[in-house]
Amino acid sequence: MMTLRTGQRLAFAGISATALLLPGCVAAVPVGAAAVIGKNVVFPGGGEDEKAEDAEKAARKQARELEREQRRQAKREAKRREQAEEEAIPPALQATGAPTRPAMAAAGAVPAGMQYLYGSGEAAALSSQAYRALAQHVRASADYRQAGIEVASVVLAPGSSLASPHFVECGAKPLAIVLDIDETVLLNLGYEADEAARGLSYDDARWRRWEATGAGKVDPVPGAVEAISAARRAGVAVVYISNRTAANAPATARALEGAGLGKAVPGETLLLKEEGAGSGKDARRAQVAETHCVVALVGDQLGDFSDLFSGPGMTPAARRAAADGVQIEPLWGAGWFMLPNPVYGTGLKGGIADVFPANRRWTDPGAAAAAGVPAATPKE
Ligand SMILES: [Mg+2]
Repeated sequence: MMTLRTGQRLAFAGISATALLLPGCVAAVPVGAAAVIGKNVVFPGGGEDEKAEDAEKAARKQARELEREQRRQAKREAKRREQAEEEAIPPALQATGAPTRPAMAAAGAVPAGMQYLYGSGEAAALSSQAYRALAQHVRASADYRQAGIEVASVVLAPGSSLASPHFVECGAKPLAIVLDIDETVLLNLGYEADEAARGLSYDDARWRRWEATGAGKVDPVPGAVEAISAARRAGVAVVYISNRTAANAPATARALEGAGLGKAVPGETLLLKEEGAGSGKDARRAQVAETHCVVALVGDQLGDFSDLFSGPGMTPAARRAAADGVQIEPLWGAGWFMLPNPVYGTGLKGGIADVFPANRRWTDPGAAAAAGVPAATPKE
């Protein structure tokens, strides 16, 4: 026999309605004590007062549990909102450790970094400058070697620091130059055009598809073909060290050859990132330095020269100080050759406190305070 009790019906109906507002929340009315049919609660017959009391207790318990779940849910929601707000801060204003690729503009808009690197004559000129300096350095190194003058390696030896660098021994090893690939010898025009057109940010899986299928949609960096050809003609080996995936080595070799950069042999003159390996390049540089005298390193990120630039505590200010330090600065253009890349990478980090020294910040005093000061010449 089943008895319908209106007094409990309202309490249970209230719980059921609350439960509907909490997706994913488990709020089952105790089976055996009562069953809900629509908005009515049905109890088994016999000892009705006792059962009603039990049911009330169960209802109170359920209500307490629901309250607790509501509080947990409110906390989760607050945390989610906090994270979303954090992600909305433009990368340029985030603190150290921000993503190394700026947030994309709207679909179809070309970010300033891409306009500069892929579209401007200014960037083409910078790249040519770097490669012309490389060609001269390589020619001089080959001439010294031929004349029996000692040639120095530019690969940091184990135990080096950026404040106290020393270099591996060259002996009579054959000469080589080591170059990064992306935005150093190849401009990934197809991939970046796709990101700009669709307003997408970097995606690892899409990048891998690009490596596998985009060989025909790249350009050589201005000056790279001539400098690399000149090195080969001078009998200097050309080795590529890149964090493109080793699984796509044949496609990357095709991209290099198609861009006029010559043949690269996977595992020999094309050292890519093995599955599960870290992104550091020191081990691969040491591998080349075992058999060759590396007279030049060429890249678009400090990690193309030493993993020490990515070490603990290397804030943007610390990296800049190290690159411009008394021991490292003389290498630029004289063994270490840097290409511009304002599109992505480890150089695109830092908030105002990281980028601008405290003693070089200025606040506009306003027109009245500046009265009598000659008008500034517009920047060109
Ligand atoms: Mg690169």
